[in-house]
Amino acid sequence: QKWTKETILEDAAEKNVSYIRLMFTDILGIIKNVEIPVAQLGKALNNDMAFDGSSIEGFVRIEESDMYLVPDLDTWLIMTKHDEDPDGRVARLICDVETPDRQPFAGDPRSNLKRILAKLADYGFTTFNLGPEPEFYLFKRDDQGRPSKELGDHGGYFDLAPMDIQENVRREMVIELEDMGFYIEASHHEVGPGQHEIDWKYADAISACDFIQTFKLVVKSVAKRNNLYATFMPKPVYGIAGSGMHFNLSLFKGKENVFFDPEDDRQLSKEAYYFIGGLLKYASAYTAVCNPLVNSYKRLVDGFEAPVYIAWSEKNRSPLVRIPVARGLSTRVEVRSIDPSANPYLALSVLLAAGLKGIEEKIEPGEPIMRNIYSMSRQERFEQGIFDLPRTLGEALDNLSQEPVILEALGSHISENFIDEKSLEFDSYNKQVTQWELEKYFNIY
Ligand code: ADP
Ligand code: GLU
Ligand code: MG
Ligand code: MG
Repeated sequence: QKWTKETILEDAAEKNVSYIRLMFTDILGIIKNVEIPVAQLGKALNNDMAFDGSSIEGFVRIEESDMYLVPDLDTWLIMTKHDEDPDGRVARLICDVETPDRQPFAGDPRSNLKRILAKLADYGFTTFNLGPEPEFYLFKRDDQGRPSKELGDHGGYFDLAPMDIQENVRREMVIELEDMGFYIEASHHEVGPGQHEIDWKYADAISACDFIQTFKLVVKSVAKRNNLYATFMPKPVYGIAGSGMHFNLSLFKGKENVFFDPEDDRQLSKEAYYFIGGLLKYASAYTAVCNPLVNSYKRLVDGFEAPVYIAWSEKNRSPLVRIPVARGLSTRVEVRSIDPSANPYLALSVLLAAGLKGIEEKIEPGEPIMRNIYSMSRQERFEQGIFDLPRTLGEALDNLSQEPVILEALGSHISENFIDEKSLEFDSYNKQVTQWELEKYFNIY
């Protein structure tokens, strides 16, 4: 372990830290924080920081409202620069949530992921890695600083300045992320006007999810500083590309990539095939977790490089699962359905559970799909056994509530709260009368 209680206290004093944010993520994927003055840091590091969990959506039942925040020492990070705040700098610690009797709280997504990761040992695996590819849009703000619906620029995929007028803003994000310990691999303009992507090096599951949550904060705050608004909403504008957050996944045994097998025709191991088999088999059930908004399903339509079908391929970008060409240590499975509104801890919990089930039950993924599925007729798809991903949040929730493997991956506390909350969301949407309906029907019927 890199940090200890003592070295954190020393670092805080030395670097003039005045406030510490104790951060955690709720079931809906929203980052919450309790801010404490530095005088309380020792207490927090002794795991003595209680808070009232009943105010957090879907978090607790009233009878267990007192929770403890248990900081993960390795997440110690000073978030502001020296010159930014004369009153002292702000640091953060990411926390697990514990019940009053000091058990991992069943409603804490980060603790839930740790519970699923503990199963790796049963298979002899040591690490589950994630390299995410989050995409987002930048919108302009109006004179009063309110987010507008005007896109930030008119650039396109991999465009350069002067088309990409936000390149400097994106670079500012990259620099700030690097200062915080991100190992940035690439950043580029995406297909949509005002749409961007920043990729960093893969890491173990928990660190990678922590990075995603921190990443969203940094992107939003740098955008704001530049009078822009950053959104991770999956489909903010009709008719142009949505924002995905592809997950690149791999399993390691020590330093060895379990998915790599130089002897195989495709240089993929049996475990890799079965893992893909599990990902395909349980896709209709875990989609509600990976695509949790009504709006998520506006992205999962054809024509925008987002997946619509449950299939896998090697090069083709239209199916749910793609195997990028890299082999050796970089052998990985890319899940393309996930969007950035997903709670990363929960998304990884269900994907890992699905993949491990595939390995346990030796589920064959079938042949990869070579042709562009979008150009196949419904009949052709049917003949090849290619099914659609759920088309609405309602359908996805129905599938989730019927699949024990995925429900177990969330645990009953999270799955019940998630399904309740999301069903209300879908029902409320369903009752709306939209502009599209008025335009389509009003004058005809
Ligand atoms: P794409 O081809 O879809 O654009 P990128 O090259 O942009 O993919 O994304 C690569 C991502 O995959 C990066 O986050 C990278 O660190 C990650 N990655 C590379 N090797 C592995 C691995 N063994 N396990 C998980 N992720 C990996
Ligand atoms: N924006 C696309 C999506 O919604 C992905 C584009 C890409 O392949 O990077 O998933
Ligand atoms: Mg992309
Ligand atoms: Mg990708």
